[in-house]
Amino acid sequence: MSAVPPGITVTGTLQRQAWIDRVLPPVEMVRPGLWSVPTPFPGSPLRYVLSYAVAYDGGVALIDTGWPAAEAWDGLVGGLAEAGWDIGDVKAVLITHGHGDHMGLARRVREHSGAWVAMHEADAHPEHQHYRDLRDFRRASDEALRQRGGLAADFTAARQGTGPDASVFDEFTLAVDRYLPDGGKPLGPGSGLISVHTPGHTLGHTCFFDGDRNVLLTGDHVLPRITPNISPAPGQADDLLGMYIGSLRALAGTAVDEVLPAHEYRFRGLAERVNGLLGHHEARLGEVMAAVGAAPGCTTVAVAGALRWSRPWEAMVGPQRRFAIGEAYSHLVYLDRVGYLANKGIADDGTGVDSWYPLRDAGPRLT
Ligand SMILES: [Zn+2]
Ligand SMILES: [Zn+2]
Repeated sequence: MSAVPPGITVTGTLQRQAWIDRVLPPVEMVRPGLWSVPTPFPGSPLRYVLSYAVAYDGGVALIDTGWPAAEAWDGLVGGLAEAGWDIGDVKAVLITHGHGDHMGLARRVREHSGAWVAMHEADAHPEHQHYRDLRDFRRASDEALRQRGGLAADFTAARQGTGPDASVFDEFTLAVDRYLPDGGKPLGPGSGLISVHTPGHTLGHTCFFDGDRNVLLTGDHVLPRITPNISPAPGQADDLLGMYIGSLRALAGTAVDEVLPAHEYRFRGLAERVNGLLGHHEARLGEVMAAVGAAPGCTTVAVAGALRWSRPWEAMVGPQRRFAIGEAYSHLVYLDRVGYLANKGIADDGTGVDSWYPLRDAGPRLT
């Protein structure tokens, strides 16, 4: 469970020990003027989110904030205090992507500090906040499950457990003050911090290269051990896996001293980890091709059920069931785009149910 992937060197050894011990890692000064501030992520197997504070404008800029929960807020405020800063010293909030564990406390930080908040336009634009409220989101999720071929048993499984409640959902609709353009310098020309658009995990996912310290803050794009979920939002048909593969390849040549992810622990060996992630998806694409080859005309849900997961398919319930189906779907969409499969089930108006047919015998090479 805690094995380190080959080729990478763990530099956040205290963080890794905390991960193994199932406790919150300590606040650390990673470099002069750059702190790692962990916040609890209640109810998630990820257990904590690593926010980062960078010296800026007489105070700090925060990169990611944590999940909208009281204990995460206390962790953020207390963690900043350990680093020598007050929450009122936060001048800017840069968000890697529009997931609740990264942007969830941004509104509250802004209210307490007057900081401006920035995110990539693709994750921040109101047009991309597809859902009016939690009910609307659930309706869209169920419609997507139906189109993927979900049967009664899948709906039952997907509705088990608890998802986000309405109060948390409200925190996800955040009006940002600025957008983060690819290659931009969000903290101004005097800072070495550069935003790097890395779509895939979400459309607007952005990493931050800190040229002053030669480190890369990777959000959820590159994590040391976990493979980030590549799963379209309900109603979304973009080739997210294709984008993710492109974003990974674009980063592989970046020479950085250390990778600072938003979960797990810091490490060295970006190129090796990128290669490992590409290898993971190459194997996954092969598995998907084999599943479709064995049952032409199958639905996305049937493919998902035929893949290997970390636990038995029957035990994949609640959001996990939906993420797994989304993960299978993103691989199928990619294979469709590169001409390895065809989906004959989806009508032009998108009202049909997926029905996948192979056009080749095996999946593509990525590595
Ligand atoms: Zn995420
Ligand atoms: Zn995350």
